Amino acid sequence: MRPVDKSLFQGNKQSYIPYGDAKDDLIKAIGGFCSYCERQGFRSALAVEHIQDKKSFPALELEWSNFLLSCTSCNSIKDTKAITDTLLPDRDNTYDVFMYLNDGFIQVKPDLDNDLKDKARALINLAGLDRVPSKRGYSGNDTLWLDRKGSWVLANRYLQKYQNKDCDIETIIDLALNNGFWSVWMQVFETYPDVQKELINAFSGTQKKFFQPILTL
Ligand SMILES: [Zn+2]
Repeated sequence: MRPVDKSLFQGNKQSYIPYGDAKDDLIKAIGGFCSYCERQGFRSALAVEHIQDKKSFPALELEWSNFLLSCTSCNSIKDTKAITDTLLPDRDNTYDVFMYLNDGFIQVKPDLDNDLKDKARALINLAGLDRVPSKRGYSGNDTLWLDRKGSWVLANRYLQKYQNKDCDIETIIDLALNNGFWSVWMQVFETYPDVQKELINAFSGTQKKFFQPILTL
């Protein structure tokens, strides 16, 4: 999951009335992607997401500091779940803790310490990121798993082209921006820091402090 930093965007508001008015500024700040599943979303497919849910924390309903973007699927799965003891993309390095597999699955990296593993697992559960057809409660209308698998296949196809010098970095970045799933592209190109660097820079609001070794290459 892409870690994000909204403070890179110079907005002039702390509060939005109604909160839905924050959507365009959020898209400018962190790109038009679901903050949880990372799917690329057209404007109406994305909702202003309350990190602390607005039913339990009404005082935070209009606050920029409490906003992310999410697709309708992740939004409804997250609902009013508590965010204690979980990692979050606007405060933690949510890239380093997950592995993306070629069948479209997401998995917590096995070599983390137990506390971090629990918090990463909690984040998967928060937005149901491991939803697949065999899982209870999975809706056939939800194409997250297939979308992520498709992104994996596409990224690997362009990895081969890149290795064969059949495409340039710009093409890869254009595809990633249009396809979403930043983390999948980052992982597929993990041995190509030049590509990773452009992925970090091209997606608005990516939290750069976690990627200094790549950015300073
Ligand atoms: Zn989503």
